[in-house]
Parts: sequence; structure tokens; C-alpha cells
Amino acid sequence: MIDTALRQEFEAALGADAVLTDPLKLRTYECDGLTGFREVPALVVLPRGTEEVAAAVSLCARAGLPFVARGAGTGLSGGAVPVAQGVVISLARMRGIVEFDPDDRRMVLQPGVTNAEISRVAAPHGLYYAPDPSSQVVCTIGGNVAENSGGAHCVKYGFTVHHVTALRVVLPDGTVTELGGDAPESEGPDLRGLFIGSEGTLGIATEITVRLLRTPESVRTLVADFPTAEAAGEAVSAIMASGIVPAAVEMLDSLAIEACEAAVHAGYSLDATAALVVELDGMEHECDEQFEQVVALCRQKGTTNVRIAGTAEERALIWKGRKAAFAAMGRISPDYFVQDGVVPRTRLSEALTRIAAMSRAEGLRVANVFHAGDGNLHPLVLFDGQAGESERAERLAAEIAEMCVELGGSLSGEHGIGLDKACSMPEMFGEEDLAVMDRLRTAFDPDRLANPGKVLPTPRLCGETPGRYRPHPLEAAGMIERL
Ligand SMILES: Cc1cc2nc3c(=O)[nH]c(=O)nc-3n(C[C@H](O)[C@H](O)[C@H](O)COP(=O)(O)OP(=O)(O)OC[C@H]3O[C@@H](n4cnc5c(N)ncnc54)[C@H](O)[C@@H]3O)c2cc1C
Repeated sequence: MIDTALRQEFEAALGADAVLTDPLKLRTYECDGLTGFREVPALVVLPRGTEEVAAAVSLCARAGLPFVARGAGTGLSGGAVPVAQGVVISLARMRGIVEFDPDDRRMVLQPGVTNAEISRVAAPHGLYYAPDPSSQVVCTIGGNVAENSGGAHCVKYGFTVHHVTALRVVLPDGTVTELGGDAPESEGPDLRGLFIGSEGTLGIATEITVRLLRTPESVRTLVADFPTAEAAGEAVSAIMASGIVPAAVEMLDSLAIEACEAAVHAGYSLDATAALVVELDGMEHECDEQFEQVVALCRQKGTTNVRIAGTAEERALIWKGRKAAFAAMGRISPDYFVQDGVVPRTRLSEALTRIAAMSRAEGLRVANVFHAGDGNLHPLVLFDGQAGESERAERLAAEIAEMCVELGGSLSGEHGIGLDKACSMPEMFGEEDLAVMDRLRTAFDPDRLANPGKVLPTPRLCGETPGRYRPHPLEAAGMIERL
């Protein structure tokens, strides 16, 4: 409970303009990109630096108040959803570039800097930051660290964890510590690696050191159309098996193409059942040679049309279409639910066939747009909430996630577990694994104040027993509601 005296302590530590209590303003923070989960916080604070974050967290620790860090709120697993009666610590005012050393190809950032801003500042020096979530214009590097975010180019360059070398972190008791460092290897366990992807449950990152890459000499991009999703899936397998390491291999099915074209007019063929966007980068001669091989492999697998980007503008337009895919779904459906799961690349075709069958059985359309190169599916379940289709959509999305695990994949490729999939964790991990994760979390946060209820299943919310979500007896009796 936040009484007047405690609110005044927050104001004294951060300044009155950095503490929000107006119910209308608080509502702005009630959800993230997964809008089905909502909770209005008791208080939102907007610190400007590490000391102010530490002061806010210390006050939470002393009062036993749960807190949730928030970047841009684009997360798709409910990770930034506030806790009832808790505090949201928004990093929106921490947008500074603390240091930039182009010679060392290194940048130190406050957590509220957007992903796209890093490459924008680095570009005049022939450098860029590789992980590129489709939300990069809005999402923050702090959120990227918490989710270990990926993007189209992670098939070649890896995820956030491969590009963040050091972190300054405020721990859940308010102390400030440094994880990682400039040296490529540090002694002891890799706590930097542990923190990346911990979804705000181990503390708050307040300074993030990233490594930058040299802008490649040459980039070649194509869109190849296929008559079936299976044929496109086989082309992906053939490209990867050939030894070529593409910078990106993305797939869109006909529904995704229809939505993207309606929104962006990127020039995708509306008569293709599936399209692959393939990009190669590197030294010019090597890139050209391998590009020819990719075109030949697409032809072998039955492409009906290959469109090659002739200019930087054409390439940018192809990517604009792909990166707008989620938002574009509004053109073809009143509501949609983004699923995020991984299957082994070799089982992509099988997964797509099964998704199509599940979609028919549930009577709901599913658009597929995904990072095919690393088997990271993003089925978009289309539904009309007003027509009472939400529950079926949720069920279909859950069935797809289960299928990913059954095929030897994973519950999440890059969007995280958050609130959404915490109850599904026992599908992938045994009790002992979950207990180890729980002990690790407790070592950082014995009082469970940092983003509680996220990532690890809370039996009370998950129906008392591990496994898929089942209504709690009190919920079945109509006495409590599921969030
Ligand atoms: C249209 C769209 C496209 C997307 N495409 C991709 C994609 O291609 N790849 C991908 O990986 N994701 C994608 N996402 C998901 C999302 O953008 C990423 O997860 C992103 O990293 C979230 O950043 P954010 O700043 O919005 O974080 P938020 O949503 O605000 O928070 C996400 C999580 O991070 C925690 N957090 C935030 N800041 C900090 C901090 N400083 N310290 C500790 N914890 C913190 C929060 O508590 C929460 O658990 C997409 C989302 C949308 C809406």
C-alpha cells in the first residue's frame, strides 16, 4: 500500500514531476503490446539516472512493494504488465548515449535509447548494431536486454546476448553492480549472460555497453515466390544446408503478404502462396557468388518468381513490408494474437502443415510471418473479439505453442515468457529445472519484488498443478477472474 508519506518519499528522491499518481496517467501503463493482460499500477516513477533508479528500488525494497521496469511497452508476452498495488519504473527519460568510441566499436547507453537510434548514431562511422527487432524504431535497448531480443538478422549475427558486453544493474535491494566488462572473457560465472533474457526479474539495467559491427561492404536482397509453403520451407532448408550463412531468411504466407501489401505496398506478389525474403551480406565478390547459388536453390525448389532489389531504396521497401507485418494485420482482421515459438528448421514444413490443420479445426485464420532461417515461427491468429472469438484464438495460440515443444523446439524464440507463457513453462521444463531457475531468481531477489508473476509459473495462478492452464477452483466458482 502506498500512503501519502511513502509517495512523498518517492517525490523527494526523484522530484515531484517524476512521480505519477493521476489515475488517467497511470492507465497509460496498464499493459504492453499483449493487450489482453491489464493492471493499473499504484504509482509510476520516471527516473533520470542510475542513482534515481536505485533510490526508487530501495524505497520499494524497504516498503515491500513489487516493481516492474518498463521500456517502450512493445513487449508481446505481458512482461511489462504492472503488478496490482505495485510501482512501475519507466526508463523513458533515460535516453542518453553515455559514451561512444568508434575506434573501439563500442557504445554505452542508458536503457531508454531505442534500438534504431544506436545504428543511426553509429552509421556515420561505418558501424551498426546488429540485433534488429521489427519494433526497433520504438523498442528500447533495456527492453531488448531483458527479452534477449532478436530480429531478422539474428540467424547470422546472433541475439542481444551476443552484442552486449557489460551492464550496470540496480539489484532488487537497490544496490548497484556491474556485470560483464570490456574483456572478452571474465572470471567466474557469466552473470551478464544470466541477466540478459531475465525479463526484469533480476533487477533493472541502467547502463548497457554494446559492441558495434562494421557496415558490410555489400548487401544483396531478394524476394522469391513459391506455390506452396512447403516448397518455401524446403528452399530454406536447402539454403542453410548448402553452407551459405545468409544474413536473413524470412518467410511470409499469402495472408501475411496480403496484409503487408495493403499497408505498405512493398511489391510482394499477391498471387504467391508463400514468399521468402533472403539477404546476403559481406565482401562483394563472395556475396555475388553466393547470391547466384541462393537464386539457383530457390529455382530448384520451384520458385515462380525471383525479384532482386536493385537499389538501396528497393531493399528498404522490401524490409519495410516485412517489418510492418504485425501492425499490418489490422488491415485484414479486427484482432490478432502473435504467437512466438521455435521448431527445428528441418521441421518447418511439418509445423506449417499442422498449423494449417489446427486453423481449419478451430475455424480461425492464421497468418504466418517468421524468421525461417532459425525456425522462429510467428503465427498470427486472426480473430474478432467482439464476435466472441477471443477464447478460441487463445486456445489455438496455446496449441501452436505446445506443438513447437512437441516438435523439439521451444515455447519462445524472442518475445519471452512474461505473464503469457509462465503457466506453460512446465510443458518444457521438469520440476527440478524450474526449481533451479527459482533458486537462481531467489539469489537475486529473495523478497520477490522484481516483476513477480512473470516467467516462472505461480501455482496459485496456474491452477495449483503444473501443466497447461486450468481454471483455479475459485475461478471456476466465479469468485476470482483470470487476468
Ligand atoms: C510490432 C512488433 C514487432 C516486434 N518484433 C520483434 C522482433 O522482431 N524481435 C523481437 O525479439 N521482439 C520483437 N517484438 C517484441 C518487443 O518489441 C521486444 O521484446 C522488445 O525488446 C521490448 O522492448 P521494450 O522497450 O518495448 O520493453 P517493454 O515491453 O517495456 O518491457 C519488456 C520486458 O523488459 C523488462 N525491462 C524493460 N526495460 C528494462 C530494463 N532497463 N532493465 C530490466 N528489465 C527491463 C520489462 O519489465 C519487461 O519484462 C516486437 C513487438 C512489436 C509490437
